[in-house]
Amino acid sequence: MHTNALIFPTNSAAKPPAKISAVNELTINWHVTEACNYRCQYCYAKWKDYPNPRELFHDRGRTRDLLIELFRYFQPTNTSNPLREELSWKALRLNLAGGEPSILGDRLLEIVQVAREVGFQLSIISNGSRLTRSMIKELAPHLTCLGISLDSADPTTNMEIGRALKSGKLLDLQELTANVHLARKINPLLTVKINTVVNLLNAGEDLSGLIQEIRPQRWKILRMLPIIDASLAISDEEFAAFVQKHRAFQSVQCVEDNQDMCESYLMVDPFGRFFQNHPSLTGGYQYSKPILSVGAGTAFSEMAFNSTSFQSRYTGELGESHEEV
Ligand code: SF4
Repeated sequence: MHTNALIFPTNSAAKPPAKISAVNELTINWHVTEACNYRCQYCYAKWKDYPNPRELFHDRGRTRDLLIELFRYFQPTNTSNPLREELSWKALRLNLAGGEPSILGDRLLEIVQVAREVGFQLSIISNGSRLTRSMIKELAPHLTCLGISLDSADPTTNMEIGRALKSGKLLDLQELTANVHLARKINPLLTVKINTVVNLLNAGEDLSGLIQEIRPQRWKILRMLPIIDASLAISDEEFAAFVQKHRAFQSVQCVEDNQDMCESYLMVDPFGRFFQNHPSLTGGYQYSKPILSVGAGTAFSEMAFNSTSFQSRYTGELGESHEEV
C-alpha cells in the first residue's frame, strides 16, 4: 500500500534571498548499502555480496528517523541551514544509491514509501541487474528519475570491468531497455538517466547504439575517479576523445571530470554519516559523526562542501538539475 501523505509540508513557493544562487532541487545521495552483486574494478564499494548487518537500513525505526532528520534539516524552508546563505532550492530529492540498492528487494520498496511519506522526491541509481519488470512496476510511480549505470555494450568489456554477477551473468541490455520503456509508460514524467564511467577498458568504445535504444534524457559521462584504484585511469586526451566521439548526444550529455566530483555531492553513507570525497584525503573519504547521534546540522558542519561546484553541477549547460552519483 502506498501513501503520499506528507510529514512535512513542502514549500514550492519558497523564494531565494537576493544574491544567492537558486536551483530547482537539492539532492541527498543516500548510499543505502555497500554491498553489490557486481565487481567493477574501479569501484569504491567493498564488494560484499550481502549487506553489513550494521547498515542502517535494516532498522526500520532508525531508517525513518534518519529520513525525517535529513528532511527537517534540508527542507527548503529551513533557513537555519547555512547552505541557504549560498544556495536556494525549491524541492528536496533523495537519491538511493549503493553499492547496489536493488539488492535490498522489498526493503528498498519500503524505504521508497517512507521517503515519499516524509516528503522527499525520489530517484535511484542502479546497475540494472535486479530491476526486474515487477520491481519497475513498483518503483516507477514513485520516481522522478531512474538512473542506470552502463559502461559498455560489449560483453567482453563488461566482463573485464567486472560488470557481471559472480556466475558470469551479464546484464541483458534488451531486457533492460524494455524495462526502461515500461517505466516511462507507467510514469510519463520520469527522467531516465544513464551514468557511464569512462576508464581504460571502455574509453575506445562507441556507445551510440545503446544510447539511441534507451533514449535517456540525461547521459552523465564521468571520468573514472582514481581514489581507490588508479589502474584503469585514463588521460585527459582519452577522456576528451570519448566525449567528442559522442557529441551527437550533446543535448543530453553531462560531462564530469575528476575535479568536478570533489566536494560537490551531498552524500550519506550506509551507517548514517555524511561523507565526502577529496583526492587529498587519506583513503579518499572524510566522514561525519552519525547523523542520528549529533543531528544533521552538527554532522553537516563537519563536512567540506563546495557549494560552487555543487551549484554548477545543477545549473550546467542543460539549465536544470542533473546530478547525483
Ligand atoms: S555496479 Fe556500481 S556499486 Fe556495483 S561494483 Fe560496479 S560501480 Fe560498484
